[in-house]
Amino acid sequence: MDTFANINFEEISQYLGNLKNCSFCPRNCNSDRFSENTGYCRTDSFFNISSICIHKGEEPVISGDNGICNIFFSRCNIQCVYCQNYQISRNSGEVLNHRHELREILEQIVAILDTGVEAVGFVSPSHNIPQVIVIIKALKKIGRNPIIVFNTGGYDKVSSIQLLNGLVDVYLPDFKYMDDSLAVSLSDAPFYSKYASKAIGEMYRQKGSTILTNANNYAESGLIIRHLVLPGYVENSISVLQYIAQEISVNVHLSLMSQYYPNDFVTEHPNLKRTISANEYKTVIREMERLGFSKGWIQEPNSSEFYQPDFLLKHPFEQK
Ligand code: SF4
Repeated sequence: MDTFANINFEEISQYLGNLKNCSFCPRNCNSDRFSENTGYCRTDSFFNISSICIHKGEEPVISGDNGICNIFFSRCNIQCVYCQNYQISRNSGEVLNHRHELREILEQIVAILDTGVEAVGFVSPSHNIPQVIVIIKALKKIGRNPIIVFNTGGYDKVSSIQLLNGLVDVYLPDFKYMDDSLAVSLSDAPFYSKYASKAIGEMYRQKGSTILTNANNYAESGLIIRHLVLPGYVENSISVLQYIAQEISVNVHLSLMSQYYPNDFVTEHPNLKRTISANEYKTVIREMERLGFSKGWIQEPNSSEFYQPDFLLKHPFEQK
């Protein structure tokens, strides 16, 4: 029997019409994404996806034993020079991208869910808010209700996060910078601190500081704030932690990541050409503890060796 026989894909996809005048992220391009003029993210109104795959490298309550079905969108609304997913995230030149039909996306997700995976994660979704909503609604239409994880770089608008209220189960935002000049020089993201703090504040308003888990210990509701410690920028990391402690809550779950490694674009950068030192990571952990955070995850200091995806592979996170 065809699972999708009774689904009206056109009706579900109507939400994409909002891309006619796109202001879904802080860039506020007001571009018509049905035209050639696609705005900063160079992303049109289709489902532009680089990979749909099982990923086991997330936090334990996200990946569990079976992994999460991650949907990696192509391109991004911020352009971090050190991005570990640069094969798919750059807005200049060509990136690995497949323009999918909604039906095909659902088939791939369902095939992965049928292996025992319980969650679907949208990675770098900020420039694809309508597409995310359409996929979630379509999954519900076919009777699938996986845990929905929104894994964002944090450069989001409150209005877009409000559109996801009731649809997203777990927010997994990066909080990269409090230093806005750093945000511009490393990610081309003006006023990052203002946008990320307000957007994460809205996620906190929706979810609070408690993570609810299901019988298999997967997070099924909550907020986990990630922060990647960058080499040479410990002060920025400390400012991010201090902001969260003072303006959001020390009771939120933090994921403090040490996994930074230099990509091919930063081999000459004075700071970014190396991994972080054990001392830098320890300094940030000490500040986290001093501020009173007690919930979340830290990594081994040498984690950079284990998190290097290759999107040219069918399974980007498996060792070659
Ligand atoms: S999602 Fe893309 S087109 Fe829309 S405002 Fe952001 S960068 Fe511009």
